[in-house]
Amino acid sequence: TKCSHGDNFSEGELQRFGNIELSPSAGILNYGQGLFEGLKAYRTDDGNILLFRPEENALRLRVGAERMCMPSPTVDQFMEAVKATVLANERWIPPPGKGSLYIRPLLLGSGAVLGLAPAPEYTFLIYVTPVGNYFKEGLAPINLIVETEMHRATPGGTGGVKTIGNYAAVLKAQGAAKAKGFSDVLYLDSVHKRYLEEVSSCNVFVVKGNVISTPAIEGTILPGITRKSILAVALNLGFKVEERLVTIDELLDADEVFCTGTAVVVSPVGSITYLNKRVTYGSDGVGRVSEQLYSALTSLQMGLAEDKMGWTVGLK
Ligand code: PMP
Repeated sequence: TKCSHGDNFSEGELQRFGNIELSPSAGILNYGQGLFEGLKAYRTDDGNILLFRPEENALRLRVGAERMCMPSPTVDQFMEAVKATVLANERWIPPPGKGSLYIRPLLLGSGAVLGLAPAPEYTFLIYVTPVGNYFKEGLAPINLIVETEMHRATPGGTGGVKTIGNYAAVLKAQGAAKAKGFSDVLYLDSVHKRYLEEVSSCNVFVVKGNVISTPAIEGTILPGITRKSILAVALNLGFKVEERLVTIDELLDADEVFCTGTAVVVSPVGSITYLNKRVTYGSDGVGRVSEQLYSALTSLQMGLAEDKMGWTVGLK
């Protein structure tokens, strides 16, 4: 069923970064009607600025908006707004190789509503901030703990879309993991408690021989754009790739494990802790497959390799 809003967003404008005003009864503040996106702009050696598959973010936002009963900007409106915001903030984009401009689009129910109902009005905004490379000198492995009590998603829920509440729901488990010295939490499915889902903000892959497997998109994991890109890159490099149910046992028995996401790109997993058992991967925790995929993907994103897939959008 379609919620009763047209997708008729009016012309936007550029504003200085600052606080925004909301009614205390704004839909987002009371009922969590909000979605976000995340993507990066890279400066290249030849003076261009590259976005990586931004239409994918626009489409994912539209799918999420449908689930959250919200209207959403069209792909064209999204693209135009992202481009205008990046170009207006060009001076904040780090030099080639030194990082990127992180772009955060946000769609929120800004209209006032008291009884539970979709907000009567919506706001789409974008803010940006420079970020350094996640890995400053070589890849460093992360250490994950498998969460066995709390879940981030359930079948039929909103785990498959980038709604703000999903992130509030993981803070407790993530905080507990960090307090114990882990980098983050790996979630299991809430029904069987034995299939892998994902990490708080990235997708997970297991490598066994020449086969790279990742949990299929079934509505309880976020369809990562890095995930989708890595599947294609790995296939091109001659790996066999599989999207399917992946069990905790396969994870513990893998040759290599890595995570993918806009922030971490490809992040090798050095160890997994599950029910007080710790499994480590490789001698230094940085698998050769993770390394190869990291380098293939970052070269594309930074404009250092030929973009045969047509994934990058140049702003100059
Ligand atoms: N899973 C979750 C829960 C996330 O928040 C993200 C980051 N958007 C990802 C996976 C990775 O998605 P992407 O590759 O599009 O950044």
